[in-house]
Amino acid sequence: MAYLFSIPETRTVKVAGETDTYPVGRIFCVGRNYAAHAAEMGVEVDREAPFYFTKTPPLAVAHSDSTMAYPAGTENFHYEMELVVAIGAPVFRATPEQAADAIYAYGCGLDMTRRDLQMKAREKQRPWDLGKDVEGSAVFASFTKAGEMAALGEQRIWLSVNGEVKQDATLNELIHKVPEIIADLSKYYHLQPGDLIMTGTPAGVGAVQPGDRIEGGVDGLEPISLTIGVPE
Ligand code: MN
Repeated sequence: MAYLFSIPETRTVKVAGETDTYPVGRIFCVGRNYAAHAAEMGVEVDREAPFYFTKTPPLAVAHSDSTMAYPAGTENFHYEMELVVAIGAPVFRATPEQAADAIYAYGCGLDMTRRDLQMKAREKQRPWDLGKDVEGSAVFASFTKAGEMAALGEQRIWLSVNGEVKQDATLNELIHKVPEIIADLSKYYHLQPGDLIMTGTPAGVGAVQPGDRIEGGVDGLEPISLTIGVPE
């Protein structure tokens, strides 16, 4: 039986050393996972448990080294540099130890955000979708398989705009660590290969303008870049 109409195809991310690519299923994002970022947003950190929002594939997915048109509906479009975790095995009701075994790869990601719409939603106690689930706003560099990455901790995570460093932290500052995040998500979701987790951004977020060039990195991973294009 044929489909009545076509929908966008699955989008994929390259994996260093692999010919085949990683197909993106779901994108879970952690909010407020660095204390200094929560402080700059004027909110408290919840150390009890992480909280989440999502971005909707395939249209949310974009690749490093591309140009993203300044999106519709915002006058305050922000970058957020993040460590991304790619799931490679089913995970449900897992312990952190079991969760760690399901990590397939890590990568650099950008959680591009309509900050004005997110803040308006926050004030009105409404969902963040318009602020966060922006088409093309989940930007990914090539992934590095977990076995090729040193234990997470001292690695620097940084971002610059037009060569000026704006975000500069280490993965030690993650409040909820990666295995704990996966284990927590697995209380609510049947995680599976293709699921990505954006683990939150350090302090130093800010606005970009058309023509700006974003570059970022995490020690040991492929760097990421994005150019902001003219408004749609
Ligand atoms: Mn984020």
